[in-house]
Amino acid sequence: MTDSPTYDLAVIGAGPGGYVAAIRARQLGLKTAIIEKAEVGGVCLNRGCIPSKALIRNAEVLALVKRAEEFGIRYDNLRYDFGVAVERAQHAVQRLTGTASFADKDRIVVTDAAGHPSELTARAAVIATGSRNKPLPGIIPDGRLIITSDEALKLNPLPRRLVIVGGGATGVEFAYIFAAYGVQVTIIELMDRLLPGEDADISKTLQTAFKKQGITIQTKSKVASIKPADGGLTVQIESAGSASQTINCDQLLLAAGRAGNIEHLGLEAVGVKTERGYITTNEWLETTVPGIYAIGDVAGKALLAHSASAEGMTVVERLAGKGGTPINYRRIPRCVYCQPQVASVGLSEADAQAAGFTIKTGKFPFQANGKALALGETDGFIKIVTDAKGGACLGVQMIGAEVTELIGEAVLLQMMEGTPQELRASVHPHPTLSEAVMEAAAAVYGEAIHL
Ligand code: FAD
Repeated sequence: MTDSPTYDLAVIGAGPGGYVAAIRARQLGLKTAIIEKAEVGGVCLNRGCIPSKALIRNAEVLALVKRAEEFGIRYDNLRYDFGVAVERAQHAVQRLTGTASFADKDRIVVTDAAGHPSELTARAAVIATGSRNKPLPGIIPDGRLIITSDEALKLNPLPRRLVIVGGGATGVEFAYIFAAYGVQVTIIELMDRLLPGEDADISKTLQTAFKKQGITIQTKSKVASIKPADGGLTVQIESAGSASQTINCDQLLLAAGRAGNIEHLGLEAVGVKTERGYITTNEWLETTVPGIYAIGDVAGKALLAHSASAEGMTVVERLAGKGGTPINYRRIPRCVYCQPQVASVGLSEADAQAAGFTIKTGKFPFQANGKALALGETDGFIKIVTDAKGGACLGVQMIGAEVTELIGEAVLLQMMEGTPQELRASVHPHPTLSEAVMEAAAAVYGEAIHL
């Protein structure tokens, strides 16, 4: 450990938080080192956003082909191969350098794959080490019968019957994928609905669509015990208000939470505090040690790739003297890529009311949108929640085809502090799904044209 190069900034972890922070730091002229122990791109590129969306695309193509007769297209002998879908979803990635940990506040030790340590010095450091799947008491993944998203992305062969524990974004995305391939899927969700963090109307519409897709949903339920049986599992479920029941399945996918990667970083030694498994930060993402920042999943604020990247940019721009403002997490969009897709930003009706607002909403169903009819994708709606007093847009919730693309418009509206009045006055192209956004804005004033 003789050489100790000195940097303005050391970034630990090259996921969407870390690599964006490092690129932005270089753009702004900071001498920057980035240390990655496994795969560049982190969970997002290798075991998260991108491979899961590639699998979802396969499921969408298959679902559409199965509906071909609706479009007057017939075929004999449909065959499909989930192995090809898995192949398509995997990436070749660059593997490099080492595992980082703090020797002290501004010295970082990097240990390479052969166990050789080297050291670097940095004026500031960004911890962007991400998160991993978290076991639940009594549900310990073994990678074979009890699996996590890591194995679910590579399942081959497919199980006949799959229990998914957790009806959040990850659980519902995998439910959609596997149900499209004919797997009997049961989702067990502790709360009273799927996607419990979203607007209640969204959950209701999604549950109706999932039931049509043959997915069984058990809400207000939890796994009481799991036992091996006939090469698969017997899962005992306890549901609020009803007798416990037993489900036999071939595999169980645990999709109920993440844990921050806070271990082996030497955090205690330098005085970086953690809380409930994530690193404690202030509004500028600075930890309890000045000059050490934490962004992305390991900071536990939003657990989304675009939030990690935005946090990285915020930290680096401030370090480079560009000022800026702390992130307003209300303006971070949330997207779920099952079909129908779900997207939202800001406050739901219930959250806005709980925050003390008197609200006015506008809702427009895709059934009344020409492009949705042409696509044969009429499930869903767009809802806009406004402050009845000032007229400001407080939140937008969407469920339906391609809404993960439409939500950007709502994000911009909130960023510009615009009102639905301006949204409805913006002429949208016809025929597009985006016209439903304009119509939902008009519906706030009871003036949607196609309702
Ligand atoms: P990560 O992407 O986890 O990257 C952290 C990196 O740090 C890793 O490469 C790791 O190897 C490295 N590292 C850890 N410790 C050290 C160390 N000591 N030294 C050196 N390197 C280290 N989010 C979305 O926004 N949209 C989606 O559609 C979406 N889909 C998802 C689907 C699945 C199945 C999963 C699991 C997640 C999904 N996410 C999605 C979440 C998203 O992947 C994460 O929010 C995002 O990857 C977090 O980025 P990050 O940079 O904080 O951490």
